[in-house]
Amino acid sequence: MVTAPQSDWGVSTEAARLHRQAIVWDMHGCMPLRPDADLGEIARYARAGASFISLNVGFDLVPWSEAVKIAAHFRAWVLAHPERYLLADTAADVRRAKREGKLAVAFDLEGARALDGQISMIAAFYRLGVRSMLLAYNAHNEFSAGCTGADTGLTPLGRQAIAEMNRVGMIVDCSHMGCRSTMEVLEISAAPVVFSHSNPSALNRHHRNIGDGQIRACAATGGVIGINGVGRFLGDPETRSETIARHVDYVAQLVGAAHVGLGLDCVFDLDELDAFHKNHPGSFPEGSAWTRDQARFAQPEQLPEITENLLRLGYSEADIGGILGGNFLRVAEQVWT
Ligand SMILES: [Zn+2]
Repeated sequence: MVTAPQSDWGVSTEAARLHRQAIVWDMHGCMPLRPDADLGEIARYARAGASFISLNVGFDLVPWSEAVKIAAHFRAWVLAHPERYLLADTAADVRRAKREGKLAVAFDLEGARALDGQISMIAAFYRLGVRSMLLAYNAHNEFSAGCTGADTGLTPLGRQAIAEMNRVGMIVDCSHMGCRSTMEVLEISAAPVVFSHSNPSALNRHHRNIGDGQIRACAATGGVIGINGVGRFLGDPETRSETIARHVDYVAQLVGAAHVGLGLDCVFDLDELDAFHKNHPGSFPEGSAWTRDQARFAQPEQLPEITENLLRLGYSEADIGGILGGNFLRVAEQVWT
């Protein structure tokens, strides 16, 4: 029996070659949200061939003062490990990370409550390394409706936040927000908008997933939809790479392969997740109140398998390069200043 030659990643030689060449970009990962967290596990992204990870430094349930401290600590941690990591201030920094075999890191915020109502905090967070932000995390806040509850759209403060993000060069993210709010963002943003980690509801109906209209409007801004690896949102409790590729394929068929990427949303500290769910049951979409045993997330190690699955679906090298990271890199090039 002839077996195909395998690489270190356990994928075919062809997939390994493509994966090694590509700038692999994960638009959302969740390290422990503590101002003394050890971020050592981000090495797993690098080992899986990634050149970029965006780590969240807060979401709407984290007090703004804590988010500032977490961002400051994450920044200091990355700067203290220059042999393996670098802070991505610009798209050029991500290209440099690829050349030097390092992992570039930027930060994101899941919810504008981190601003404590003050628009000038956007520029302050930008200086700390926050390169994308969504306005409301599941529940509504003073900026926007979330994907649960009444879909009341953006508030005047939310509109001001979008204008300021456009001005400072922070990517506007629509994941976790209410449908109407996202359509308003997609209409008013002067720069490409992303869904950093959202899957098509056509494949699995869930509050956190998004409709074809949202996907089309996002692509029309030049933006990218990052497919996430949460079992509940994929509709696959095993979070198989094949399923992730199927979600990528759906979006690519709808709006073109230039508008799809990855935002796997891997959560590393499941105890912390348990505690957030237990202490804030109303803040998560119905049906997502998981127990630790049910909390399934695609792991960074699946990145090469996703490449393999895209090859199997018949995607060209150029399209795969875009999906793995070239598409988000394009947005970063346009938006980050
Ligand atoms: Zn999220």
